[in-house]
Amino acid sequence: MRRNVDLKEISDGKLYTENDMAKVGCNDCAGCFACCTGMGESIILDPLDIYRLTCGTGLTMEQLFTVHIKLNVVDGLTLPCLVMAGDDERCTFLNSDGRCSIHKYRPGVCRLFPLGRVYKNGDFKYFLQTDECKSKVRTKVKVGKWIDVDRPRENRAFLNVWHNLLNELEEKCRKAEDLEETKEINLKLLRTFYFMPYEKTADFYEQFERRLAAFPV
Ligand code: SF4
Ligand code: SF4
Repeated sequence: MRRNVDLKEISDGKLYTENDMAKVGCNDCAGCFACCTGMGESIILDPLDIYRLTCGTGLTMEQLFTVHIKLNVVDGLTLPCLVMAGDDERCTFLNSDGRCSIHKYRPGVCRLFPLGRVYKNGDFKYFLQTDECKSKVRTKVKVGKWIDVDRPRENRAFLNVWHNLLNELEEKCRKAEDLEETKEINLKLLRTFYFMPYEKTADFYEQFERRLAAFPV
């Protein structure tokens, strides 16, 4: 999701790599679940999130759609995001103890929080959102450990390709002659990268590459 904000206003002004230490530690969230409520449509899911969620929960996309995820339009593209339900707008994966019930396979946005990514020149770095985490005491943690992602090199390559693809498709939607063309772009995107089930026993990145190669941009 593109955000038109001044990084200086929401961050500490630094950019981080996986090897840097950042003040993200929050005592294992002890009793807090603020960032799992009231997040609106901001926890947008990418294909790796869908792979993780379907493999981890054993639920199909259709089953995830009945409770946990929904579609939302972002910058002209229709993408899945987590549902926040009820009066207090809780993530549907939050359990009665106020803990994430899918911690091992939680989405990328949740792994990052309160970090964000800033993309530049075909790559990205991390920034720290200083006012988002509600913990009073924050300790320094290595960024790579915080985001807890397997195979960081492949993950970075995937995230860059995905980011560029979404940018290209947003541009196509902006230039589309009519609504039908925009609809077609979005349907292909959803079918290719989200609705076609991923093989649980096969490598995600290889499956993504194959889908990308067959995707008409
Ligand atoms: S706001 Fe901070 S302390 Fe609270 S749940 Fe989120 S990360 Fe944990
Ligand atoms: S998936 Fe887990 S970490 Fe992410 S918002 Fe939901 S409960 Fe919180």
